Amino acid sequence: MSKVLIVAEHDGITLNASTAKCVTCAHAIPGAEITVAVCAADASAVATQAARLQNVTNVVKLENPANVHALAAVIAPQIAAIAGPFTHVFGPSTTFGKDLMPRVAALLDTAQISDVMAVESATRFRRPIYAGNSILTVEVDVGTKVVATVRAASFEAAAAGGSAAIESVAAGASLPTHTRFVTVSAAKSDRPDLQTAKRVISGGRALGSAENFNILYKLADRLGAAVGASRAAVDAGYAPNDLQVGQTGKIIAPELYIAVGISGAIQHLTGIKDARTIVAINKDSEAPIFEVADYGLVGDLFTILPELETLLGK
Ligand SMILES: Cc1cc2nc3c(=O)[nH]c(=O)nc-3n(C[C@H](O)[C@H](O)[C@H](O)COP(=O)(O)OP(=O)(O)OC[C@H]3O[C@@H](n4cnc5c(N)ncnc54)[C@H](O)[C@@H]3O)c2cc1C
Repeated sequence: MSKVLIVAEHDGITLNASTAKCVTCAHAIPGAEITVAVCAADASAVATQAARLQNVTNVVKLENPANVHALAAVIAPQIAAIAGPFTHVFGPSTTFGKDLMPRVAALLDTAQISDVMAVESATRFRRPIYAGNSILTVEVDVGTKVVATVRAASFEAAAAGGSAAIESVAAGASLPTHTRFVTVSAAKSDRPDLQTAKRVISGGRALGSAENFNILYKLADRLGAAVGASRAAVDAGYAPNDLQVGQTGKIIAPELYIAVGISGAIQHLTGIKDARTIVAINKDSEAPIFEVADYGLVGDLFTILPELETLLGK
């Protein structure tokens, strides 16, 4: 039987939605028994949320003052120390998981499967390569522990309704001293998180300045949306790089994606492949974004956006 250990992503208070998506992925493995590991200084609140996810059997709390900040170098040895009985160890393909899981794989002396987008069996998985242009099927030797990151955009979050058992475990791993927390500098925003937002409005090079991005921020607030950006807009300094959507930015799957003045380069499209409805605003009717858009508005964004704002204001 498959026993899957999922490393919870959280901020010490709230479980990140990416964990519930890992649960859905793990549940696709026939007969999988799912355990969620919560590493924290005080894991109680997050463990309670994880225990409520459907199809989770156990939640283990790894409590240690060193876990107050989610440092991959500190968490990895603890996960590796408890991974023995598990056939699979999963983490989300977010910044947190991409930092952590290769370390876990290395400590377990195995290779990592990155960006699992579909499960074919306990040992066969599909993942995108070449910016999503090809899908690779990878097979792990039977008996090899599977360490993987799960492409959150490819799975729905597991619903609430479970009642898993919660227990505390002592990892007993010796923790490294070479890495320590110094400071965190994160953009503070009242807008929804780009990676989990249901609606996202993104701007491209055509916005022309950081000042003009304010038009998008205003619209986003009206729509209850997160703001994203193309790499060209980020490189030009119009938007901070944590807003970048695409192959080298964030992979997102909102219900609504509005691309404003974005051409639709393949590296950008790979980040929005799983968006449910795509709206494109572009003055060039031949722009590749229109090939993937469900709705297209051909015209100057500086005319269309104020009109949209007026409409929403009514
Ligand atoms: C290895 C690699 C990784 C990359 N990763 C990413 C990534 O993660 N994310 C990403 O986005 N890109 C990425 N890129 C860059 C990508 O190839 C494109 O260069 C980039 O996406 C283009 O951004 P853009 O659409 O904003 O700009 P452009 O391609 O310059 O497009 C601007 C668009 O705006 C339209 N426009 C101009 N003025 C107006 C107006 N007034 N009103 C309406 N429309 C207007 C134009 O018709 C055009 O279609 C990557 C490239 C490489 C090589």
